[in-house]
Amino acid sequence: MPASDTDSQGEPVPSWQERISAAVRTLAIIGRTRPGLTTGIAVLTVIAALLPPAALYVSKLLIDGVLAAIESGLEADRAAAMRWVVIEAIILAVLLIIRRWLAFQKARLHAELGFAVARLILDKANRFSLAKIELPRVQEMLIHAKQFAAARPYGLIMRGFDTLQALVTLISITALLAASAPWLIAVMLVAGLPAFIGNLRFSGDAYRFYTARSPQMRERNYLESLVTNEAAARERLHYGLGKPLMERFTDLFDGMHAGDRRLQGRQAIIGSALGVLGSAIFLGGKVWIVAVTIAGRFSLGQMTMLIGLLKQGQNAVNGLLGAFTGSYEDVLYVTRLFALLDLEEGRTQGRQIVGPIPGDGLRFEQVGFVYPGAPSPALRDVSFHLPPGTRLGLVGINGSGKTTLVKLAAGLYRPDTGRVLLDGLDLGEWEPAALANRIGVMFQPHVNYKLSVRDNVEAGLGLETLSPDAMDRALAAGLAQDLVSDLPAGIDTRLSKRFAEGVELSGGQWQRLAMARAHANEAADILILDEPTAALDAEAEAAFMARPLAPGRSLILISHRLSNLRSADQIILLEAGQVAEAGDHESLMAQGGSYAAMFELQADAYRT
Ligand code: ADP
Repeated sequence: MPASDTDSQGEPVPSWQERISAAVRTLAIIGRTRPGLTTGIAVLTVIAALLPPAALYVSKLLIDGVLAAIESGLEADRAAAMRWVVIEAIILAVLLIIRRWLAFQKARLHAELGFAVARLILDKANRFSLAKIELPRVQEMLIHAKQFAAARPYGLIMRGFDTLQALVTLISITALLAASAPWLIAVMLVAGLPAFIGNLRFSGDAYRFYTARSPQMRERNYLESLVTNEAAARERLHYGLGKPLMERFTDLFDGMHAGDRRLQGRQAIIGSALGVLGSAIFLGGKVWIVAVTIAGRFSLGQMTMLIGLLKQGQNAVNGLLGAFTGSYEDVLYVTRLFALLDLEEGRTQGRQIVGPIPGDGLRFEQVGFVYPGAPSPALRDVSFHLPPGTRLGLVGINGSGKTTLVKLAAGLYRPDTGRVLLDGLDLGEWEPAALANRIGVMFQPHVNYKLSVRDNVEAGLGLETLSPDAMDRALAAGLAQDLVSDLPAGIDTRLSKRFAEGVELSGGQWQRLAMARAHANEAADILILDEPTAALDAEAEAAFMARPLAPGRSLILISHRLSNLRSADQIILLEAGQVAEAGDHESLMAQGGSYAAMFELQADAYRT
């Protein structure tokens, strides 16, 4: 067959060992949480696998019994035959009950496993460092893992149970055949061979095809979200993006499914030829059984049983092969899931809760930081000292490194060169919770939690409950008191219209809540505010800036409105990640550099 476009791309097909190890690890997940459920299903599967051959054996006894009763006319023979009918009926009834019960238990397993896998994924996501979870590859793995957390691992375990069932059936059939017609064992296995060859041939193709098109699947999901997503709707409607996006979607679909159709067409033709071959071998076996029966070497009962066994055997062989060679999507998912769970988390856990120089405050010492894969550092040789009770203003055009500096100051990134110290201790050596307790941050962009107002504020303290007074103080610090008193259920109002009785806030209102959140932890003695007033109206901004700093607290404030920073003890102007100018407002104005030029420009804008 010529090498098609799908052969050259895609991932290598997982080996048997990989498949088995993926299945075993998946089984271990559920085995740990619900050992009884899993064992129960395994036991019932074995019984369900033994019963059909047993029923065939009983039906042989029944037919032979009936023939004997007709021949002898004896009451005893008649009763014996009737007994076999009852036994066969009991076997079939038990089989029916077990199958129903199995379906119910499997549904339970499906739900439990989905939950267990989702918990593993979330637990892993929780343990990643910021730098790690921001990596596009990790993001992709997380999205993929979440998407099929319930379906794929379950699918794989079901394949495992299918294999078990097929194996047990095959062994019991082999035992029955061995007693009367051993060479039918060979017929049964050979009849399965064409399907096996077909399966082997195509599962590899399909696997490579499936993995090669995952970029298109991602593109498809993204296009879908652009059309359905509420946040994108404004631009889609205004710019008329709906139609062109649909066209891209259609082109993508056509491209993807042309390959699909070719593959399926090939599969259908070769698959049916192999199917006919398998059936011919099976038929040959059946003709032999009938001929031998006519020659008088098999009883009618034996003939019925052997034909039935041959049929069941062929099904079991096919089932076994199907379970083994199919399931490529499940295996792919599960191997990727375990690759995600095995990833290094990138988080070092310090243990100290105080520094050697209490009251020293925050220090950056020649700090440099490069984003993974970035061509140039986002920060270079940045040094400053922020003693308690002082204010630092950070200025710089977009992309100059201000937000990166905030993430380093909060200990979320580790510097690549230099050190960040709090009270003389490297941030990496602080116990994470103790460090977080010292630093209140308003991030940019901040998260708008579509939860209650209370949650939005308490998130600043790990969702611990704030006393009513502390809540009031946090809301006051965010200038959010009036906003909250106007809400229908006060601080318990659910935010976002997505929820019944939810209320939507404006950008400036969300920003006030973010500010309240940054103030929720009153123990924090360092406050970092990244563009806290960007969405505030002028009045609110002026009111915020007029608020005095609590005693002993220090502040890092990032703002594009330079007038906000006039009262700062020091101002740092960042340019391309480096400190370009530093000093207080007066000295920077006196220098007549970039800061002074920017300040004049803004002042002019207000004057005119
Ligand atoms: P500012 O806050 O001053 O606008 P940032 O600190 O956000 O600047 O960005 C500094 C530089 O780092 C920019 O060149 C930006 O493209 C890059 N950068 C920011 N965030 C990331 C990230 N998560 N991954 C890679 N590069 C980033």
